[in-house]
Amino acid sequence: MRYSTIFPKTLKMAPSGAESINHQLLARGGFIDQLMAGSWTLLPLGLRVVSKINQIIRQELNSTGAWEAQLPLLHPKEIWSRSGRWDDPAVAEIMYRLKDRSEREYCLSFTHEEIVMDLLGKYNLSYKDLPIKIYQFSTKFRNELRAKSGILRGREFLMKDLYSAHVSLEDLEVYFAQVREAYLKIFTRMDLETRVVNASGGVFTEHFTQEFQVECDAGEDMVLFCEKCDFAANVEVIKSNNCPECSGLLKEVKTVEVGHIFTLGTKYAANMNVNFTDETGNKKPLWFASYGIGVSRLLGVLVEKFHDERGIIWPESVAPFKTHLIGLDLENEEIKAQAEKVYQLLSADGVEVLYDDRVGLSAGEKFSDADLIGVPYRLVVSKRTHDQIEVKKRADKNTNFMSVTELLEQIR
Ligand code: ATP
Ligand code: MG
Repeated sequence: MRYSTIFPKTLKMAPSGAESINHQLLARGGFIDQLMAGSWTLLPLGLRVVSKINQIIRQELNSTGAWEAQLPLLHPKEIWSRSGRWDDPAVAEIMYRLKDRSEREYCLSFTHEEIVMDLLGKYNLSYKDLPIKIYQFSTKFRNELRAKSGILRGREFLMKDLYSAHVSLEDLEVYFAQVREAYLKIFTRMDLETRVVNASGGVFTEHFTQEFQVECDAGEDMVLFCEKCDFAANVEVIKSNNCPECSGLLKEVKTVEVGHIFTLGTKYAANMNVNFTDETGNKKPLWFASYGIGVSRLLGVLVEKFHDERGIIWPESVAPFKTHLIGLDLENEEIKAQAEKVYQLLSADGVEVLYDDRVGLSAGEKFSDADLIGVPYRLVVSKRTHDQIEVKKRADKNTNFMSVTELLEQIR
C-alpha cells in the first residue's frame, strides 16, 4: 500500500490530554483517534494490527474445535431478566440501558452469556449435540467509572468472547484447560509473557476464574509474581512474602489483564431454564463457561511493552505491515522506477509493503515516520543504493545492503 494515499498521516505532536504512552504513540502514528473518553476510532493502520491479533486468536480457537459467529449488540431487557442479572445492582452500574419509542427497554452488550444461553435454549439439545463452542469478535459497552490509560480501558471496546456448553463439570473442565493452553499460545505468539492468576468472578460467577496478566507499568492491577517460577497471585489472597509453590521471593508488580476465563457452572442454564436431554432421557441444565480476550486493550498493551523514544516496535506477528519501503530522491525518475520495481517485486511475492512514495520529503522526515509507525523491516531505495536495498530492522541499529532476492530469502 502507498503511504501517500493513507489517511491520516503521522502527527508531530500527541493530541493534548494524551497521557499514556499507548495513546500518544498510537495517535501520533495514525493508528487510533479518540472520539470521547473511552471511545476510539480504529484508523486503517490500527485496524490492520487488530486484524492480525484476531487472526492469531481465530487460528488457536479454531484448533480447539470452536466456531466463529456474530451475536447482536442490542439486547432486550427480557433476556437479561431471565438470568436475574438485569436486577443485579452491580450489573446495572456497568450496563448502558435505553428505551425505544414504544418504551420497550434494552441494553447494549456488555457481555453475551445470556444471549448465547437464550440461543442454545431454542435447539432442543441432546447430549449428542454437546459440547458446543461458539465465539465472536465484537463490541462491548461498559459504563466504566474511569476511562483512562488510553485504549487499555474503553467504554466501547473490542473483545473476543467464547462460550462453551457441556454435559458435565468434568467435560467443562477438560475444555477449560484446553482454552487456557490456547490462550497462553495466543499471547506468546504476540511476544507477550502472561501469568495466570486465580480471581473472583465479580458479576459473572461465584466459581473461581482465571485472569491472564501481563507485567506492565501502565496497568491498573497489582499482582504478586514469583521471581523463581511462574506462580502469580492476587495481592489480596496471598499474605506471605514467599511463593507457596517454590518458596521463591514474591514481588509486587503492576499488570494489565488481557484475558479472563470463567467457569459458570449450571447457574445460567438453571435460571434461564435451558436444558439438554441426557442418555436416560432426563432433562438437565447445561454446564457453561465463558472466555474473554481484550482485543483493543491488546493493541495498547503491545505498544506499552514494545516501544522506544522514537516510536512503536511491533512484534512481527501483529505488525500492520512486514516491511516499510522508503523511497528517497524520488524526483529522479531512475530511482523512482527502481523503488517502484522493488515495491512490485515484494508485493508479487506476497510480502506486505507499506511504501512511502511521497515526493519532496527529507530522509529524516521519512525515517522518523518509519520509526514511529514501527514496522519490523525498514527498506530504503535511494541514489546511494543502486540496484540494492538498504535493510534495517526496527529493533536493530545496523543496516545491510542486499538484493531483492536476498531480502526475500531472509524475510520469507
Ligand atoms: P477489568 O478487571 O480490566 O475491568 P474484567 O475482568 O471486567 O476486566 P472481563 O469482563 O473478564 O473483564 O472481559 C474480558 C477481557 O476484556 C478482559 O480480560 C480485558 O482484557 C478486556 N476488557 C474488560 N474491560 C475492558 C474495558 N473497559 N476496555 C478494554 N478492554 C476491556
Ligand atoms: Mg471490568
